[in-house]
Amino acid sequence: MVSTALLRLRGVVKKFGDFTALDNIGLDIHEGEFFTIVGPSGSGKSTLIRLLVGMDDVTDGEIWLRDDRIDGTPANLRPTCMVFQSLALFPHMTVGQNIEFPLKLRKVAPAARRARAEELLELLRLPQSYYDKRISQCSGGERQRVALARALAFDPEILFFDEPLSALDYRLRKTLEKELKDLHARTGKTFVYITHSLEEAMVMSDRIAIMKAGRFEQIAVADEIYSTPVSRFVAEFMGEVN
Ligand code: ADP
Ligand code: MG
Repeated sequence: MVSTALLRLRGVVKKFGDFTALDNIGLDIHEGEFFTIVGPSGSGKSTLIRLLVGMDDVTDGEIWLRDDRIDGTPANLRPTCMVFQSLALFPHMTVGQNIEFPLKLRKVAPAARRARAEELLELLRLPQSYYDKRISQCSGGERQRVALARALAFDPEILFFDEPLSALDYRLRKTLEKELKDLHARTGKTFVYITHSLEEAMVMSDRIAIMKAGRFEQIAVADEIYSTPVSRFVAEFMGEVN
């Protein structure tokens, strides 16, 4: 089969006991795409991302990354996939130490780590002087940028985000939405983004998948979802944006 998709899911099922959390999911995500999965709480978004990054195993089905089947591969052997976790910074350490942490774990030499951290500070538009600043002295927005820099340290092909902005106040959320979109454009990386806010999805994404009870109701570009919702569920979900 010829396919240009970077990430492919075929017949993916996830059960917890008798409960089916993901019900026969098929999906192609293309290289460089900003792909958003949106849906109400409990629809299976986090479960899906956990399978994609290897934090949990599929019950059935296949996950492919380019020409490799990865659904049996543990998380630490999927170097192309990184999850962005904004709250997992070490507050007592400096910005530089946080960004370099994943590189240190993998025994990258100090000079190379430092060079990479400096590159990432520039990419995230943080002043170089922040290298020695403690996380506890950074603002909320700056912390998000440091967390992004750390997620990018290994130059992953795909970056996964699980509701990274949901705990933030409205203004910071709006600023970071813009920064994430901009970062996506500047890095050319594939972003897989989860949110329960369709408004956020509409602003940021190339394509959107709307999830309901472990299945996709519709996968389309934002305009199409807006103009041609395939079901009452999608239309009502859309209605919450207006
Ligand atoms: P979302 O991220 O869309 O809010 P989740 O993927 O977290 O939803 O959860 C989807 C469904 O799977 C929910 O009904 C949830 O209770 C259930 N679920 C998730 N993880 C587990 C687990 N480890 N054990 C049992 N049920 C789970
Ligand atoms: Mg979730």
